[in-house]
Amino acid sequence: MTLNPTSQGETDIDFNELARKYAEERAKRLRSDSIGQYQALTGKLSMFARDPNADPDFTRKPVRRDSDVLVIGGGFGGLLAGVHLREAGVEDVAFVDKAGDFGGTWYWNRYPGVRCDIESYIYVPLLEETGFIPTEKYAKGAEIFEQCQRIARQWDLYKGALFQTAVKDLIWNADRQRWIVTTDRGDEFAARFVVSCTGLLSSPKLPGIPGIETFEGKSFHTSRWDYEYTGGDADGNLTGLADKKVGVIGTGSTGIQCVPPLAEWSKHLYVFQRTPCSVDQRGNRPTDPAWVASLEPGWQEKRSWNFTYWTSGVRDGEDMIADSWTNLLGEPTALTGGATEVVDPVAMQQAEMLKMEKVRRRIDLAVEDRATAEALKPYYNYFCKRPGFSDDYLQTYNRPNVTLVDTAGRGVERITPKGVVVAGKEYELDCLVFATGFDFMTEYTRESGFHIAGRDGVSLDEHWATGARTLYGIMTRGFPNFFMMSLVQSGIAINYMPIADAQTAYIAEVIAKSLAGDIGSVEPSQAAEDAWVGEILAGAPARRAFLDSCTPSYFNYEGQRQKALESNEPYPGGAIKYLGLLDEQRASGALANLEAAGRCEKVTE
Ligand code: NDP
Repeated sequence: MTLNPTSQGETDIDFNELARKYAEERAKRLRSDSIGQYQALTGKLSMFARDPNADPDFTRKPVRRDSDVLVIGGGFGGLLAGVHLREAGVEDVAFVDKAGDFGGTWYWNRYPGVRCDIESYIYVPLLEETGFIPTEKYAKGAEIFEQCQRIARQWDLYKGALFQTAVKDLIWNADRQRWIVTTDRGDEFAARFVVSCTGLLSSPKLPGIPGIETFEGKSFHTSRWDYEYTGGDADGNLTGLADKKVGVIGTGSTGIQCVPPLAEWSKHLYVFQRTPCSVDQRGNRPTDPAWVASLEPGWQEKRSWNFTYWTSGVRDGEDMIADSWTNLLGEPTALTGGATEVVDPVAMQQAEMLKMEKVRRRIDLAVEDRATAEALKPYYNYFCKRPGFSDDYLQTYNRPNVTLVDTAGRGVERITPKGVVVAGKEYELDCLVFATGFDFMTEYTRESGFHIAGRDGVSLDEHWATGARTLYGIMTRGFPNFFMMSLVQSGIAINYMPIADAQTAYIAEVIAKSLAGDIGSVEPSQAAEDAWVGEILAGAPARRAFLDSCTPSYFNYEGQRQKALESNEPYPGGAIKYLGLLDEQRASGALANLEAAGRCEKVTE
């Protein structure tokens, strides 16, 4: 069923009353422990981190190796780094990843119903170069994972790649002009350049709900789905759940994708909700072969730019993607960033409220039970949380075997050996799934999981103790030849792919130029880094003002500003400017704004 509420009745919205309701709902969710409410999958929770897709008994001998480049992480960022390095003529590239294969997010996230939520023709990289076309507008996770493997094969990136291996330490050795990198398998690399692509949302987190480790049934995080227990695969057929009472905690982008298949296959499904997700129309459809046949060389880049323009508030001719992202963002709103026009903030606020009103009205059309429909309604600005899209999530609540347990913003109270407690009532469960997300924009070293010591042994945590300092969100002074891909002071876009592509193209060019010139080390000049940090800090207040009014989420550090993390903000100039800037730097020789020092001869082993 397609739910398209008409605009009828929009004009009767009382914006002041809505603003009051938003503030009230926000207040219910504010907690003094903010980001401290979550816990990493370590210590007594380390069993949640186990990789169900890799051989737990895997062993190998430690490796000692000199390499020109070490890439940490084999997701989209690492793969694109590998491709650009190869294309720039850099052959000696090694990869290390904790996972058992390339794929990153798409290696880990194999939960039922997993799909990309950006159109796959612009989100999945290198379609033209590999001759692959996703079978649907929003591709299944398995297809995207296969494309990652295809890219790795085509650019010969498997050669020397070490999987099921976690980097522990990176120490800059100034005499050798190399990074000495050690891993949890006893490996030691001496790498001239390190490109760290550890992912934007890659460290799973669990809520600090009391009793979480006492649950005696089966429990796992969505990024470690246990198909041995549930049966089936990402397409469903979860026959192991036929006689099971299943609970899901979390109703974000992951929750809304895995709830429908869980409902279809479980005896009974309880969905524990703290804050409802906004759920807009998805409109997935099979790829049209006639459309594919009509595509001309260069189509993917053109289409990708079209989306970046439209979602930056710039109407770039025809809206090629024409989905819920571009429909909304074609109108400049509070967070479009790159919008060229200055828009009245009151008008922007009202546009967000109107959008959310439509989202709420879709719920009335889809959900039969009035109390359930009311509980599913989100009351916050559209961009306070990652918007969700689904054509079957809301309808799932009409099934007799599905119960929405709304926690009225307070979250799950307790977990017992038998189940989950909300408002004093225990829900007995056989299986409990945590769709509770990932660490986001906290400390870089906490997210990446390794310790970095740059020049004079200064650690990155020490260097950033009073705030992050980078150039383009990619390099930091004092850490020569080290490149990172993260959201800290970086450009952001709704579609991450063009950002990752531009960043890795730039990084590859810097590395290729340095290798060609036998340059020992490159790092940002003080002036260039100061200027970049200045731009970030100057733009941060506007974004913060918006996020401060938002319901708690990982976007706003769960509603509480973190002093030390304030300069982690993204580049405020928007995606279009950021992409243009990196392109310009690359085209003009890549080394501008960097200080190059020393000479580095190739070490012969
Ligand atoms: P999120 O962080 O978005 O969602 C976590 C969920 O867990 C929220 O609903 C949160 O509630 C809930 N939660 C946390 N603690 C408790 C508690 N104590 N009691 C009850 N509920 C709790 O994680 P996701 O994995 O859903 O998504 C993370 C990101 O990954 C997305 O924003 C998106 O960028 C990406 N993603 C992309 C997909 C795609 O491309 N297809 C698919 C899935 C994810 P509350 O809202 O109140 O905090």
